[in-house]
Amino acid sequence: MATIAMDHYHAWMRDAHALEKQALTLIDAKISRLGEDYPEVTARLRQHYSETEGQIEKLQSLMDRHDTSGSVFKDVTARVMGVTHALGSMMSSDEVAKDGLLSYGFEQTEIASYLCLITAARVCGDEAAIPVYESILAEEQDMADWLRDHLPDLIQQFLMTADAEAGGDDVRMGSSALR
Ligand code: MG
Ligand code: FE
Repeated sequence: MATIAMDHYHAWMRDAHALEKQALTLIDAKISRLGEDYPEVTARLRQHYSETEGQIEKLQSLMDRHDTSGSVFKDVTARVMGVTHALGSMMSSDEVAKDGLLSYGFEQTEIASYLCLITAARVCGDEAAIPVYESILAEEQDMADWLRDHLPDLIQQFLMTADAEAGGDDVRMGSSALR
């Protein structure tokens, strides 16, 4: 296999590893911001946190087998980005709603990464790695599906709570507050 293709493949493997480390930071920040008010979401995020730890281990073994180590620079950058992303939503009053939106986007990025890795593994003749990527892809797809199914409830609870806390008695259009 051409060296260039293999180089790209190895780089994408390291990128996925860095992305998952960033995922741990982001999930952690989201869990603390949600607090006790959204137990179902928090429970699903905790589950995905442990899945993510497993994904990092799987990627690490693949990287070891290919003798390609995680780029320290990239890992650090990704973690800093994770913190920045967390701070960004911490400053707005709709942090919980923004987190839901950003989480869905993040899962789609992960899905795309593993689709690329599956193709790269096939092109580079690393057939043994394909089931590993497919198992991670399935977890990302499940998380994305769960978010898609639960985002409406999260947004509704967020808006109703926000309105109740502000002393409003009716959030619906046509109430006196909106006239
Ligand atoms: Mg992941
Ligand atoms: Fe994920």
